[in-house]
Amino acid sequence: MDRNCQNCDKPAEAPWTLCKTCRRGYARLLHRLRVNLHLLQAVARREYRLSEPGAGGRPQGGDAPAPINLHAQDMLDQTEDGLQDMWNETGVESRPRWQALLRDAPRRLPDLCRASRSGHWLTWLIHACERIEPLIDRRPRTRRIIGVCPECGREVLAAKGETLLLCKCGNPINVAELREQSQAKAETIHLTKTPAGMSQWLRENYGYEVSRKVIIMWIRRGKLPSSKPVEDGYYEFSIREIVSMAMAYSNRQ
Ligand SMILES: [Zn+2]
Ligand SMILES: [Zn+2]
Repeated sequence: MDRNCQNCDKPAEAPWTLCKTCRRGYARLLHRLRVNLHLLQAVARREYRLSEPGAGGRPQGGDAPAPINLHAQDMLDQTEDGLQDMWNETGVESRPRWQALLRDAPRRLPDLCRASRSGHWLTWLIHACERIEPLIDRRPRTRRIIGVCPECGREVLAAKGETLLLCKCGNPINVAELREQSQAKAETIHLTKTPAGMSQWLRENYGYEVSRKVIIMWIRRGKLPSSKPVEDGYYEFSIREIVSMAMAYSNRQ
């Protein structure tokens, strides 16, 4: 009997409770969590210190730092509990340590993706990674708009390598799919802005530094044939056109 994926509601063939895309996402999340937990363990043991001020690494007032970082240790314990519960639902009664569980993950994946609450656990994995990453990631990850949530219309931001996300409204987002849909949509979308406003929009949404002057020059030289002047210095820009120009321009910089 066919049923729907617990995560994205697309059809999923029996005996799976997740569709193929979400099963792949599940595998990637387990791998990501494994890497995260090893780093978190190093943070907890203070073998690895965050460099930014205020991130917890600096001893205050000459006091020696605590031998373990309790916040990191708590998070490690909580995550281990969650993983043990997750494995319980595939019939593993003992509660092995997280290292053993995640080493076993590739072999256990088919059972996890057939479990009765696989959608719940997929969401839990996303949240667990999102809670841990600020504690272990020294470099702030650059997130870019990839499109708009089909449920609530919020802009969705993703960093490189992210495949599944949760929108603030709770809707699970398949990054590759949304990116594709948004590209198709951007072909027809226009935005009315001044060149200065467009310069700001490109910087905020895509991280491209293109000055107002450069945009005006593109308009004068006919590099934006689908963008039309409206009135009072405003133009109707074709997003696809201006974004591809900005992309090429920033690659040359
Ligand atoms: Zn799915
Ligand atoms: Zn949403």
